[in-house]
Amino acid sequence: MKKDAYQKIMEIIEGTAAKLVVVSKTRSVDQIRSFYDRGQRMFGENRVPELVEKHDALPGDIEWHLIGHLQTNKVKYIAGFVSLIHSVDSLRLLEEINKQAEKNNRKIAVLLQFKIAQEESKYGLDVTDLAGFQRTDYPWIIFRGVMGMASFVEDKTQITNEFRHLKTIFDDLKNNYFSEKNDFTEISMGMSGDYEIALAQGSTMLRVGSLVF
Ligand SMILES: *Cc1c(COP(=O)(O)O)cnc(C)c1O
Repeated sequence: MKKDAYQKIMEIIEGTAAKLVVVSKTRSVDQIRSFYDRGQRMFGENRVPELVEKHDALPGDIEWHLIGHLQTNKVKYIAGFVSLIHSVDSLRLLEEINKQAEKNNRKIAVLLQFKIAQEESKYGLDVTDLAGFQRTDYPWIIFRGVMGMASFVEDKTQITNEFRHLKTIFDDLKNNYFSEKNDFTEISMGMSGDYEIALAQGSTMLRVGSLVF
């Protein structure tokens, strides 16, 4: 097989702490299966109905990640199987995930999504939103790390600074809230256009879609 973008990324991250989440939103079950057949197990979706449908149609050993904005009233549809929710952008959502996790009698792993881009439209927490945050308020949540999206710009310096900012937030949270936990380890940043910059700034989870399809 000709060396493609997927293979190239896999070679770059081989032997590092970084992992690749193949973002399969809008792609068909057959397209996902072709990555599955190459050994890929982590897939990311941004819409709940699509995630549920694909989960039902594809093998049970796939790790499904929810990467898009999640409405509180939809948590219940994915609580039974989701492997990682990247997009926790409010404490209200965190409360609902905690509640649905308990209902399903399974802990749910999450990333806290921070707003690092200049653009107005991006969802995400600001560090000040965590005032009063106590990890122990959420016994059914496993906090795995942070997630962020850089601005859609050409300026590599700006993207670098935004990713560096997320790494700083990660380090601060780790020190302040999770220092004695070994499961707060992930920095989800980097997409098709900026994954190399993200890796250089310490990304441990790339979310790449269009480049590999
Ligand atoms: C679509 C999407 C991606 C992947 O974007 P590509 O540019 O196709 O690699 C990554 N993260 C989120 C949150 C997305 O919605």
